[in-house]
Amino acid sequence: MGKGFFEVPIAVNEPIKGFAPGSPERKEVSETYKKMYNSTIDVPLYINGEDVKTGDTATMSPPHDHQHIVGTYHKATKQNVEDAIATALEARKKWSQTPWEQRAGIFLRAAELIAGPYRARINAATMMAQSKTIHQAEIDASCELIDFLRFNVQFMTEIYAEQPESTSDAWNRLEYRPLEGFIYAITPFNFTAIAGNLPASAAMLGNVVVWKPSDSQVFSAKILLDVFKEAGVPAGVIQMVMGDPVMISDTVFASPDFSGVHFTGSTNVFKGIWQKIGTQIHTYKTYPRIVGETGGKDFIVAHKTSNPEQVATAILRGSFELQGQKCSAASRCYVSKSIWNDVRENLIVDLKTVKMGSPEDMENYVTAVIHEGSFDKLVSYIEQAKKDNDVEIIAGGGYDKSKGYFIEPTVLLTSNPNYETMGTELFGPIVTIYVFDDDKWEETLHLVDETSIYALTGAVFSEDRYALEDAMKILQNAAGNFYINDKPTGAVVGQQPFGGARGSGTNDKAGSKLNLYRWLSPRMIKETFVTPTDYRYPSLG
Ligand code: NAD
Repeated sequence: MGKGFFEVPIAVNEPIKGFAPGSPERKEVSETYKKMYNSTIDVPLYINGEDVKTGDTATMSPPHDHQHIVGTYHKATKQNVEDAIATALEARKKWSQTPWEQRAGIFLRAAELIAGPYRARINAATMMAQSKTIHQAEIDASCELIDFLRFNVQFMTEIYAEQPESTSDAWNRLEYRPLEGFIYAITPFNFTAIAGNLPASAAMLGNVVVWKPSDSQVFSAKILLDVFKEAGVPAGVIQMVMGDPVMISDTVFASPDFSGVHFTGSTNVFKGIWQKIGTQIHTYKTYPRIVGETGGKDFIVAHKTSNPEQVATAILRGSFELQGQKCSAASRCYVSKSIWNDVRENLIVDLKTVKMGSPEDMENYVTAVIHEGSFDKLVSYIEQAKKDNDVEIIAGGGYDKSKGYFIEPTVLLTSNPNYETMGTELFGPIVTIYVFDDDKWEETLHLVDETSIYALTGAVFSEDRYALEDAMKILQNAAGNFYINDKPTGAVVGQQPFGGARGSGTNDKAGSKLNLYRWLSPRMIKETFVTPTDYRYPSLG
């Protein structure tokens, strides 16, 4: 300990495998998927290194095949959550004192386990649990998570190296302590990488974490837990509890040792969490850090000079990959009148070639939405659109939940820029398009800025630099991740730190140093070499 300034491997982005027909990776993931599909698992809680089975269970089914059961998971009691907190605090005594290189070693190892022996498993589990196509599973569960782990280790060492100036008679040192207490990680269904990163990033910095995965992601969360265990995360450092989110959260927020929440999910849930923490602020020993990445109503704006084929491809990929269930998914588009016919034609022609079905058939581009609640909500917007006079369905509009929760990629065209689906997050494969007059560029940019409460991602297409500059200025606060001539999805760790403001979150940029700072509490240490013994300054005479 403390006998070298160690350097970690330089982080590089994990290459994305192609899964082309006949490739070995395709064969391996297909076989793994089949095996998972034809067996069942039972997922216990994980508290202080022990599997805890409560007997109060829920079943797990693929959204694309909801009558087929692939396992059960156990739901926590209040006592389980209290145990998880108490044993995490006990584990903290050793973990918070563990040298950084030991912590780095664990999470670098986790990255390599996912890159190698766990890759097929974590991809297949994500296809099964969250209905992702193999490409979507690979870029999420494997590549993004590997990148989070590798880059965060590097960022951690860069932060530790940030030190204040010293003088010859006083040595100033900054020590980056973990927060005092424990962190609560609440993760969403849609990204296995986020489910892994929210607990891991805090734990990497010496914190202990109580992690509550989404009910709809427990199947792949279990693989994450297996990776953490095999990588050597000690008992009590990352505790996994599933079940009633309100009971679990209320129990956590009642603890005086609660020191921070790392949340990704919907806006209203986050606001509710913030409110609860606020009303109990006198309970806590330290001001809790509140970090949340939340909803979006992400836009594409296409200027009259933009290329219609590029715009159509961006709409198709940006709106319908992962069934529009990315927080960054394009869900409202503004297209200049003179290019609209070409954009429309390209989009409709391409959409006719898009196949929908189970992710097991790798020719499918679109699969099912996550659960019945989401399906029913999306259907209600489609049915409403059929009735409303200021909107028409120009593609899709079909749906079927007999086997899986399938909704066709649906394009709404509205004459009303404030139509409900231009401002409300639907989180599904429905995009709404508004066509604007060519000479109303600036006016339209203001409309984009003011139509929704969110500010997560947005894209502008134009071949005119002055038009781009207008968009840069007017939309400065409308998106935390802003794209020029590209779709608004697909941020890569280490390249495009991700997050938004306004109703979209605290913009603490997952996958960057900015996020890691939130899980640290620096201690400033000044050591004086020759300590004064006379209180008088020369000015006293
Ligand atoms: P969700 O809000 O329904 O659930 C997120 C998590 O919060 C889950 O673990 C859930 O069990 C828990 N939860 C639900 N109700 C709770 C409550 N009352 N108290 C405490 N916890 C509660 O979101 P979801 O459906 O899993 O994910 C989709 C949402 O997440 C979308 O709004 C999407 O935009 C957002 N999202 C944002 C980002 C981002 O980086 N900004 C990334 C992914 C997803």
